Amino acid sequence: MSLIVHKYGGTSMGSTERIKNVARRVAKWHKAGHQMVVVPSAMSGETNRLIGLAKEIQENPDPRELDMLCCTGEQASVALLAMALKAQGIDAVSFSGWQVPIQTDSSYTKARIESIDDTRVRAELNAGKVVVITGFQGIDALGNQTTLGRGGSDTSAVAIAAAMKAAECLIYTDVDGIYTTDPRVVPEARRMNVVSFEEMLEMASLGSKVLQIRSVEFAGKYRVPTRTLSSLTDPDIDLEIEMKSGTLITFEEDEHMEQAVVSGIAFNRDEAKIMIRGVPDKPGVAYQILGEVADANIDVDMIVQNQGVDGTTDFTFTVHRNEYAKTMDLLKGKVQGKVAAKEVAGDTAVCKVSIVGIGMRSHVGIASLMFKTLSEEGINIQMISTSEIKVSVLIDDKYMELAVRALHKAFGLDKAPA
Ligand code: ADP
Ligand code: ASP
Ligand code: MG
Repeated sequence: MSLIVHKYGGTSMGSTERIKNVARRVAKWHKAGHQMVVVPSAMSGETNRLIGLAKEIQENPDPRELDMLCCTGEQASVALLAMALKAQGIDAVSFSGWQVPIQTDSSYTKARIESIDDTRVRAELNAGKVVVITGFQGIDALGNQTTLGRGGSDTSAVAIAAAMKAAECLIYTDVDGIYTTDPRVVPEARRMNVVSFEEMLEMASLGSKVLQIRSVEFAGKYRVPTRTLSSLTDPDIDLEIEMKSGTLITFEEDEHMEQAVVSGIAFNRDEAKIMIRGVPDKPGVAYQILGEVADANIDVDMIVQNQGVDGTTDFTFTVHRNEYAKTMDLLKGKVQGKVAAKEVAGDTAVCKVSIVGIGMRSHVGIASLMFKTLSEEGINIQMISTSEIKVSVLIDDKYMELAVRALHKAFGLDKAPA
């Protein structure tokens, strides 16, 4: 008998019929003798609906109140799922984040999990119940409810699996595993049986939304066996088959792993580009600009500084699109005068496209094939950033699909590895 954590995303919980199917699947695992903790998301569209309501009332919703509001989505899900389990004769109990409790910091809308007390959950499991815990939420030291950022239920599930030393964390979603790129954009994308932890971390950090980045970080830090698989199969399929389906994150490179040079393509439409032009070129400029941005708790991603004219420099960087307005206000208000910049401008119609692969470490010419492919499609590159296992470019948003498809083909990702 093992302790298993299941996570079900919004689509998987999207209707009462689907919730009944989730309950059937969980019941099957429970009857096979496993202790089950289940972490569902809000029903699909619900978190967007709640955020939409908030924005109808306040242009920039108060973060604490937004978290109070968004927590209701997952709360409805856990109660419905516990009822669905009971309706099938399985004893179950639901908990909100604060009831566990899942302790977080106080960064509303993007809180980080600090600790999880599993005493109450263990007692219920030992009493034979399935425990259903809200994804996406926790409580801070002052007793305020917090949320973990969009897609945060993945992180809740893996963190609970880590804290409770679960045998495996299964992330059930609307695709049957991790693909070479988003199968909605490239139908030829291939599912991988295994993906290395490093590649998954890079893919998630570069915008591949199939797993929230922090869930991958938790999986790596605590070595949680984490598998992504479909919730849309027959809930009664053979347990042995189900246990081997989907994509497992692996922590060791072994010779059986698919050894493609580039193993995946990620894209991210959540960034915005900001340019500060005509800044007198002297030591400390980057700090004067980015120090203020960091102090405002805004994360910066790509950065480029180039030589302007007349002893000035142009500074370009990207931030999350949600923080674009806040960053522009900060730069136009406090920073522009301080650094004597001639102009502050921005562009939200951008997209970051990245190629990822641990095989890049031992191969040259990968970046140049990427640039050649994009140039043949007539796509202009605005910014570039590289690391040992990835190359990212910022391009005009309208070329995103074209770029991803062309790169997927150019790097042979549509063909099974030799
Ligand atoms: P959930 O609601 O279950 O959390 P998400 O929408 O967050 O589901 O994540 C699943 C989606 O991620 C898929 O429907 C797919 O379109 C998208 N996706 C993006 N990149 C990938 C990838 N490399 N492999 C599989 N799915 C991907
Ligand atoms: N319901 C939240 C969201 O839509 C969390 C999640 O689905 O993981 O972002
Ligand atoms: Mg998700």
